[in-house]
This record gives sequence, structure tokens and C-alpha cells, in this order.
Amino acid sequence: MPGAEDGFCHTDRIVGSIVDMAGVSRAKVLPISRLPTFVDSGAGASPSWTVFCVDDHLAFTPSFSVVGDLRLRIDGDDVRDLGNGTYWAPACLTEQDGTPSLACTRYALRRVTARLAESGLTARIGHEIEFALFDAATTEEWSAYGLNAVLTQEEFIERLLAAASTAALPIEQVHAEAGLGQFEVSLAPADPVEAADNAVLARALISRIARAQGLRASFSPMPVAGGAGNGAHQHVSFTEGDLPILSGGPGPHGLTPAGGAAVAGILRALPEFTAVLAGSALSHLRLRPGMWSGVFRCWGLENREAAVRLCADTAGNPHGANLEIKPIDPSANPYLSSAAILGAAHDGIAGALPLPDEVSVDPADLTGAVDLLPTLPSDVLGAFESSALARDLFGPLIMEALAAVKGYEHAEYREKPVDEVAQRFRYAWTS
Ligand code: GLU
Ligand code: MG
Repeated sequence: MPGAEDGFCHTDRIVGSIVDMAGVSRAKVLPISRLPTFVDSGAGASPSWTVFCVDDHLAFTPSFSVVGDLRLRIDGDDVRDLGNGTYWAPACLTEQDGTPSLACTRYALRRVTARLAESGLTARIGHEIEFALFDAATTEEWSAYGLNAVLTQEEFIERLLAAASTAALPIEQVHAEAGLGQFEVSLAPADPVEAADNAVLARALISRIARAQGLRASFSPMPVAGGAGNGAHQHVSFTEGDLPILSGGPGPHGLTPAGGAAVAGILRALPEFTAVLAGSALSHLRLRPGMWSGVFRCWGLENREAAVRLCADTAGNPHGANLEIKPIDPSANPYLSSAAILGAAHDGIAGALPLPDEVSVDPADLTGAVDLLPTLPSDVLGAFESSALARDLFGPLIMEALAAVKGYEHAEYREKPVDEVAQRFRYAWTS
């Protein structure tokens, strides 16, 4: 509105963003009057956006170079109001003729959900958003899950809930996590693409409100070396026709044969997808026993050290049975991590894989009986690059870009002192 009190002219804006292979959101802003252009023709984006690394280095490959142009396009139905004249929508990458780019991770997730639909399956996903607030003197009044913690940050929480309501972001709960200054926001389950959009939006709102409060929000897998990690767990559920496959069946805790096969498919594929789920040069610092990050390649009812925690259908679980996939961290592109999990579950169901034995104790007590997910760069990258399932789900362009980005990040940073790397990238995934 011209002539506003601060003496500046104001105009509404529309921001469209994508998430790249490093898990960083990259954006373009147009005046709101040009929203139809953002929808119909899109805003220009170099193909090199896809090979930006966490430090903004470009990991060029034969398919991603200085030549060419893609479009960043939004859908008018996806626009959310962030307040103060800023509107936001998740963008897709298209070719100049408007066809989907094979480098677009949002399209990749759509393709996987369509594949599920062809088999009569529908998935829903609820994201957990963990982050640490810094520069808060209030961290001196802090207890894990503490009432003191949520009360000292009540203004931040109030503003976040108000902004979420304006932006139609379905926040279910907020709590103080185990780490100093660490919080978690849980989002309601939704269609997988919408759920990933919501995860991106949640980070933008959290980052923005933190800044307005004089705080800084870190979505790093390891904000401070030696501290608590930030996870980005996803709660996944499936129905076949109208029936849930994770409850009402003859298997353990009500799993149906398809539900058991989904668990088996996810467990089988986890090493191939560690590059996608927790593939940054900091991720290995979190992916360790005792961190509740699900580094153990097993499943168990309410087992918080298992990669796949089954949350059964009980009165205390209003959304019904679901699988919490714990190894995922916030450096993951949420579209690709969901595509990986859903594709792996689908693969397990298609192959009628048998459900592995449940682990109902801390897997660390079974002294070596349960495998750990890979964390050495050569293992993580090697398993990804030789994965036929990843190639099938993502296609060659995303494979090429993700391998180049993660390969660079590990080569550049894995040998450096962890304190230095954690500090350097503390805010790399902040929006
Ligand atoms: N912060 C833990 C992680 O890095 C998760 C703690 C929890 O189970 O909520 O995954
Ligand atoms: Mg948590």
C-alpha cells in the first residue's frame, strides 16, 4: 500500500520455490500482479539450480551445465498467505515448452504416487520438523520436553501458530525436544506431495518468525557437533482400496501381508537410499546409536532406535497405524525422501516380501545382530549409484545430479574438523 507508515511503498509479492539435491530451497519472487505469468509461463531457472551444493558450489555434470533454461512454475491453487504481503507457492521445474522437467523432484514424487495408485494404493505422510533455536538467552531456562522451554519461547510459538493458521499449514503440536534450544513441530498427515509442500512451508514460517524474534532457526542434521541431531521423520500410512494395510490384518500388531511387505521393502532399500534420506556431509554425526535417529536397520512397535517404528492403530493414535521412518534428516529433499520411501514400500508389496522379525528391545543390546545403516561416504554413495530401484524411481537425470552433489559435499567436507563443518552449515537449510 503506497504511503505506509514506514515511508516505503508496499506491494504484495509471490514467491515460488523448489528444493534442490542439497536440500536447500531456492526461490524467485514476482510482484503479485504477475502471478498469472508465474502460473502460465513460469520464471526462468538455469538447469544448474539442480546441481547447487550446500555451499553454493555448482557440481556440473554432462547434463547440467551453463547452457539451457528451465522454468519455475507454480499452480494458482497452491498459493499460501505468509502474512505481510508475502505469498508463497511450491514450484515445479518444467521445460520451456511446459512439459515436466525430469530433474524436478516434485514431479518425481508425483510419479511415485501415481505408480502406487496403479496398484490400488494410496499413501499419506505426516512430517515432523525438528529445529534448534539459537541466540536465545532463554536456553538457560531449558529442560527437554520442558514446560519452561515452551513458556520461555511462548511468543515464538504463538506467532508460529498464528502464521500457520493464516497459511493453512496444519500444525498438530509443538514441543521442546531433547537438545538445548531444540523444538519439534508435527504436521498432520496429507497426500505425499501436499505433505512435502507443507514441510517446506513449515520451515519457511519457522525461519521467518525466528528472525522476526531475533532468533535463528537451524535445520542442520547436527547444529552443534556433539549435540542432539535434528531429524525429519516421516509418518507414512497406506490404504489399499478403502482399507488400511498397517492394521486389521493377521500379522504382528495387526499388520496385513501387504503392510508387512511394505515394512520389508523399506528396510531392504534403506542402505540404497541413505544418500537421499540422510546424505549430507553432517548426516553421519546424527546417524549413530543412541541418537533416536533410527540408524538400526530393523523395525519394532514403538521402537525409537529402529529405522522403522510401527505406531499401531490404538485409541491414542487418531490417524490410525503408521510407520515412522526415522533416519531421514532435514538435509533431505522432502520430495525425494518421500518418493524413496513410498517406492521402496511399493517394491516390497509388489514382491510380497516377508516381514523380518521384530526387534522389541534397544537394538544396541543385541550386540551386532542388527545392521547399521551405512555412513561411510563410499558405502552411502556406492549403494545409491548402483541402486536399480533408485534409477527406476528417480530416472537418470536426478540420479546424476544427486550423485554429483552428494559426491562433492562428502569429498569436500568429510575430512574437515566436524566443529568447523557443523558451524559453517548451521543455517544452510534455513529458509
Ligand atoms: N532428534 C532425534 C533425531 O535426530 C529424534 C528424537 C525423537 O525421536 O523425536 O532423529
Ligand atoms: Mg522428535
